[in-house]
Amino acid sequence: MRARSPVTSTSQARLDPAVAPVTVIKGVGRQLAVKLARLGIHTVQDLLFHLPSRYQDRTRVTPIGAARLGTEVVVVGQIEHTGIAYGRRRSLLCRISDGTGSLTMRLFHFSASQQERLVRGRWLRCFGEIRRGPVTTELVHPEYEVTSQKPQVDPSEGLTPIYPATEGVGQGQLRRITGESLNRSLDRVVELLPESVLSVLDYPTLQTALHYVHRPPSGADTERLQAGTDPAQQRLAFEELLAHHLSLRLARQQRRVHPAPAMSDDNGLLDAFWGELNFVPTHAQQKACAEILEDLRKPIPMLRLLQGDVGSGKTVVAGVAVTRVLDNRYQAAVMAPTELLAEQHFRTFSRWFSPLDTEVGWLSSRVSGRQRRQVLDALGTGEIHVVIGTHALFQQGVEFRRLGLIVVDEQHRFGVDQRLALRDKGTTSDCVPHQLVMTATPIPRTLAMTFYADLDVSSIDELPPGRQPVETVVVRETRRGEVVARVEAACRQGRQAYWVCPIIDESEALEVQAATEMEAALTRSLPNLRIGLVHGRMKPQQKEAVMERFRNGEVELLVATTVIEVGVDVANASLMVIENAERLGLAQLHQLRGRVGRGSDQACCVLMYRPPLGTHAKTRLATLRDTTDGFEIARKDLELRGPGEVLGTRQTGLMNLVIADLVRDHGLLPKVEQIGRLLLDQHPGNIRALISRWVGHGEGYVNV
Ligand code: ADP
Ligand code: MG
Repeated sequence: MRARSPVTSTSQARLDPAVAPVTVIKGVGRQLAVKLARLGIHTVQDLLFHLPSRYQDRTRVTPIGAARLGTEVVVVGQIEHTGIAYGRRRSLLCRISDGTGSLTMRLFHFSASQQERLVRGRWLRCFGEIRRGPVTTELVHPEYEVTSQKPQVDPSEGLTPIYPATEGVGQGQLRRITGESLNRSLDRVVELLPESVLSVLDYPTLQTALHYVHRPPSGADTERLQAGTDPAQQRLAFEELLAHHLSLRLARQQRRVHPAPAMSDDNGLLDAFWGELNFVPTHAQQKACAEILEDLRKPIPMLRLLQGDVGSGKTVVAGVAVTRVLDNRYQAAVMAPTELLAEQHFRTFSRWFSPLDTEVGWLSSRVSGRQRRQVLDALGTGEIHVVIGTHALFQQGVEFRRLGLIVVDEQHRFGVDQRLALRDKGTTSDCVPHQLVMTATPIPRTLAMTFYADLDVSSIDELPPGRQPVETVVVRETRRGEVVARVEAACRQGRQAYWVCPIIDESEALEVQAATEMEAALTRSLPNLRIGLVHGRMKPQQKEAVMERFRNGEVELLVATTVIEVGVDVANASLMVIENAERLGLAQLHQLRGRVGRGSDQACCVLMYRPPLGTHAKTRLATLRDTTDGFEIARKDLELRGPGEVLGTRQTGLMNLVIADLVRDHGLLPKVEQIGRLLLDQHPGNIRALISRWVGHGEGYVNV
């Protein structure tokens, strides 16, 4: 159930008057109710939880002469002239002045009586944003009051709340109806946090907090309120984060209701698999393997996130999980976000498993016709034991005989909603497969605990031995000549290099064009090098052929678009040049850079940029230059971009936070985790209500 159904609302309304429809509020008719619905407000309770996004201090009046464009101000002035202008749109203009300057209030919608009240000599107090008008600066549709005397500022007036609004519902109206709802129903809002929790956290009660946030008293700490760090706000933010966290934990519990095949570990395939490898796993890899094998022994579906920096060796851990599953005569599916990476995995897994008498299959959206039917048949009969592919693996018509494990590589590229959707795939009526999702975009631990609460997490926090951190330099593109010389020198010494040409926010076609032109230019300036080109518009066979030549050393310099961003693994490549580095995000640059430094040679990454650099871009490039630690980079990324972007949830609408802000309220997360556990153990009764209050009628994940 994604949206709260009307049936639930009315039946709940009988129990709890606070969930009565908004139309019970005086002055809220059908028309206004429709507009309020656009703000997600359906019930009186929704109105109580429609919280101000900020506050205005209306006791601070700005002299008109000092009001700057784009700022939001309170101004007081005397009316000099009122009249109607017939421009592109008819509008009412009212000029006021306060001795320091004058400005114009412009209204596009107005009534005759409104016009009549704006008489020369009266006083106008307006709240709004200063904009540039055709003649003077303007306030367009500000909130305003007309008085015959100069308005006196009342210093006891508290902060004025500013609510998230929508067209046709103004601030005045929102203040009035939230006020009504406070009077009418605040005392019926149910406290869902147990007394003991409130006192431990030293938080005000819900009713106190709500009232305070809607109507801060005159003595309130203005700065704290504006910053969102007042205890009243923190309490609400805490409750919201808790609700989101709990909904994930419930989702996890629900999933565990279904059984999964328990994988026993008495057979010999795993030894043979280890025998295939030409390296010894790191401690971190061994630990992750042990955690996964432990999960697989249980008849409960595993859902584990394996996070490890680029190059930390996640693939082999997935190989171990697959081996155990095959050994138990179940099938496994390995999914990668790009064709290029999927092909690489196909090669790796074929190399590992073909000698072990195991059939490795391949499926992408480009496999079609008879070939596709053959693959589907073999999956259905169980002839294919492990299949590698792209998201095509989970399209309709793909049926497995006995799917025991799904591995999703680089899951951050799939988005959280897909992660949720994936749970259902490969599920038969009585058994669900285990799942392992892997990512090289680590998120800070506290965030992971709270927002991957539906997953268990294993971390590989150690690189294979002998790796040296990639040396990173930042250079202006005017020094391109030196960079070209450096590439040539490296290739002369038998190394290989990437030259990456990203064009961000523009079309793939442009990116392809840029890479194609760069290849031509480099071919002219480096006639002795063997140069290859790979981009997203090439046919898979062409792409694969170029990659193969790069892998076996025939191609020394590979010019590429960001198609090589994830997963590509060529150990001899030790130099990477990234064009337009200033336009890429931290996580993406880190991923790209992770393509080099996979062998034992000292690797180097050249970040080329075109000045001028903005402050964020400067910070990004400096961060990359100074650290190769994925966790540190993730932390910085969080700081620069905010968690919505980092978690990849902004687009999905998941975790639509109303009052909490993950950057600001980061410090609350350990408590959220701890109290979440406590509620599940000791006060499970309130959890559903808590979730439906904060998550329930948005894009919830309660029953996904
Ligand atoms: P990622 O975690 O980025 O997916 P990969 O699984 O692609 O990393 O591994 C990167 C490279 O490191 C591969 O060539 C892999 O064979 C190699 N590798 C993995 N584990 C080890 C190890 N313990 N010792 C040496 N090399 C390893
Ligand atoms: Mg990988």
